[in-house]
Parts: sequence; C-alpha cells; structure tokens
Amino acid sequence: MKNIAIFPGSFDPFTKGHQDIVVRGLAVFDEIIIAIGINTTKERYFNLEKMITKIEQSLVNYKNVSVVSYEGLTAEFAKKCGAKFILRGLRNTTDFEYENAIAYGNKSINQDLETIFLITSPPLTSISSSIIREIHKFGGNVDEFLPYKL
Ligand code: ADP
Repeated sequence: MKNIAIFPGSFDPFTKGHQDIVVRGLAVFDEIIIAIGINTTKERYFNLEKMITKIEQSLVNYKNVSVVSYEGLTAEFAKKCGAKFILRGLRNTTDFEYENAIAYGNKSINQDLETIFLITSPPLTSISSSIIREIHKFGGNVDEFLPYKL
C-alpha cells in the first residue's frame, strides 16, 4: 500500500521553506498532496489559482507531488485522499505549541491519522509567509524567499 501524506497549509504564499519540507518528505512518503485550505472567512493575499500554478511549476520535477485546494476539516480531507499522514514543518517552539494542538485535534477527528513533523532546514527557519506578505504589500522584493518568480 502506498504511503500518502497531505501537506496542508495556507501557503499564502508557498515559500522555499515549504518546498524544502515537501522535497524532504518524499524520502518518507510515496506521494505528497499539497493541500491549500480555503478559509471562507479570511481572504487570501495571493490569488489561489495562481498560487496552485506556481507551486506546480516549482515542483514540476517531482511526479509524486500534486497540489489541490480544499474546504472543511483537514482530517476529513485526508481521509478523502486516502492519506494516513499529515505532513507539517516545525520552525521553532511557537510552531510546536500551535502544531501540538492541531495534531491532537486532527487525531481526535480521525484516529487513523498520524501527523509527521520535519524540522525546518536551518537556513530556512526565518522564512514566514506573513512576513513575505508584509514586505510585498509595501513594495519590497520577496524573490529570495520563493522557489518561483511571482
Ligand atoms: P498554516 O496557516 O496552516 O500554518 P502555513 O502555510 O503557514 O499554513 O504553513 C504550512 C506548514 O508549513 C506548517 O506546518 C508550518 O509550520 C510550515 N512552515 C511554514 N513556514 C515554514 C518554513 N520556513 N520552513 C518549514 N516549514 C514551514
């Protein structure tokens, strides 16, 4: 049986940190589905369809990676995908506190689901989607943080 993981997130935008988690995750999983969660109460900064295309472009050489968007509970979406694993990245202790609570919540919804964490590669720990949005909003160049050209 194939080990399928979903890598859920907002990816607003998808960064070099996220890409690193996906590529390293392929050493563990047969297939990774990057799943962009749609939050109906919060508008995205970067257009969803364009972001899907950019992520696909930056991972074009990895045939067992796909990109989709979803609404609703991550744990239920994982089940729909036939995924037994949720892949997440951990940058620091702040991520840990947050991720700990989410992993527990997901597990309580779907007992068969395991969340697997990869520790961020050290040079990428300071990359954050929210800071990129802030820099971009004020006209700054964010190319160095992204695995594609905006
Ligand atoms: P969310 O809104 O669900 O936190 P994000 O798009 O911000 O979604 O992040 C998705 C996942 O990627 C989370 O597990 C987050 O901790 C991880 N992540 C975010 N930035 C990085 C980075 N620079 N390196 C590695 N993992 C990261």
